[in-house]
Amino acid sequence: MSKNYQNLIDGELVSTDATMEVLNPANEEVIGLVPSCGKEELDRAVAAARKAFKSWSKTSIEERRAVIQAMSGAIKENADELFRLLTSEQGKPHEQAKGEIFGAAGMMAAQSTLTLEDEINEDSDQRLSRTRRVPVGVVGGIVPWNFPVMMAMQKIAPALLSGCTIVLKPSPFTPLATLRVAELVKDIVPAGVVNIITGEDSLGPLITGHEDIDKITFTGSTATGKKIMEGASKDLKRITLELGGNDASIVLPDADVEKVAEQLFWSSFSNAGQICVAAKRIYIHEDIYDDLSAAIAKVAEGVTVGDGSQQGTGVGPIQNKKQFDRVCELIQDAKDNGYKFLTGGDVDPSGTGYYVPITIMDNPPEDARIVAEEQFGPVMPLMKFSTEEEVIARANNSEYGLAGAVWTKDTDKGVAIAEQLETGTVWINEFLHLSPFAPFGGHKQSGFGAEYGKEGLLEFTYPQVITVKKDALV
Ligand code: NAD
Repeated sequence: MSKNYQNLIDGELVSTDATMEVLNPANEEVIGLVPSCGKEELDRAVAAARKAFKSWSKTSIEERRAVIQAMSGAIKENADELFRLLTSEQGKPHEQAKGEIFGAAGMMAAQSTLTLEDEINEDSDQRLSRTRRVPVGVVGGIVPWNFPVMMAMQKIAPALLSGCTIVLKPSPFTPLATLRVAELVKDIVPAGVVNIITGEDSLGPLITGHEDIDKITFTGSTATGKKIMEGASKDLKRITLELGGNDASIVLPDADVEKVAEQLFWSSFSNAGQICVAAKRIYIHEDIYDDLSAAIAKVAEGVTVGDGSQQGTGVGPIQNKKQFDRVCELIQDAKDNGYKFLTGGDVDPSGTGYYVPITIMDNPPEDARIVAEEQFGPVMPLMKFSTEEEVIARANNSEYGLAGAVWTKDTDKGVAIAEQLETGTVWINEFLHLSPFAPFGGHKQSGFGAEYGKEGLLEFTYPQVITVKKDALV
């Protein structure tokens, strides 16, 4: 059943005459209508954020921390409703949606404990110099559709903690759970501190180019990230960009085939592969390639692809038609080139819902599109390697540099390989773990700056150095 959702501007829930439809990717039914904002609504939201910034930026960090923690509490208390809504708009199975909602609430609470103390640069007979951190001002947050609630909250929490106010735009594909959070926190957050407005992709450049926004924090594709950098250059807005990845997992010959098969499977197929840090290329040493690829294919046999709201579904649909078409195109390209499939590969394009079967490819060449490009779907290429030197070079042969993993009993060797990978995060014997206290950011074309941890928080601030001359002749 379709429902009307509202935006949050200046502490009020607002509607617009123009609306956009939001579909359930499991059955392509319209499940919500949301405001379609343009320049007028954006101007109102930015003006509200600017007005609120005056007082919010003067509050103590303890006061701001309490507001963030109350928001986190409201999300947790309403987790049941939120995760069901998230599944219906995003497609991910209920268990994974629950993980995202509780993850978002937990991450906000954890991030709220970060601190912003002054640093003493010099305390000598002549002078006292200290660096304080001042909030940059009004932030524009732009979010994708794969983890809509998590991505929104991981921008709102540090923005608010630093003393900034924010205007956030969810993806047009997945705004519902975020708008429901907006309703839930409306009376917790002072008016204008958090504004959430929805619109088509065309609202994005209006945010990037807005003369009264001081910083853009963006998660999405590398192509859009480049446009944002260009747009933000006009008035030198501060930017944080979390972009795409083509993450390599490297499995050394000493890895326990039975133990790692299932973990490797889920490192690729959680959220139907639509994770920036999902394993997107798996390199397996030739000594264990046949056994491990057979074990991964066996795991796949036991996993059901279907509607995420149904019990037993392990992999949901692709979130939207555009991405579904792209994944189908990559599968077709592999077929046209005669690459071997261990499982999957047969999509029914006429069916209802954006379902792609779990598809595993058997040792496609390095220049295959499925290896060289970010697939962002449930299609995983397994590749054979012989030497560490060779596999490190292959893993690094990418314009991306987001994350990677090494699987081995020899953790020293794992770390030695990790240190040679050109990525912002490397896991040894695990995957997808992001800490609210560690900086998360991409090298190369996977991003600019970082989120999470102290480094992520500092990106919402300017350093201001105040120097007092102690023996001044005044
Ligand atoms: P996208 O770039 O198409 O859209 C992201 C957001 O940007 C949406 O809200 C969209 O409306 C908006 N947008 C579109 N055009 C814009 C423009 N010209 N200016 C400003 N905003 C604009 O990305 P997507 O398809 O929603 O997400 C998938 C991509 O996101 C993948 O490449 C994935 O790897 C990446 N991603 C990265 C991370 C990370 O943390 N590094 C996390 C999740 C997803």
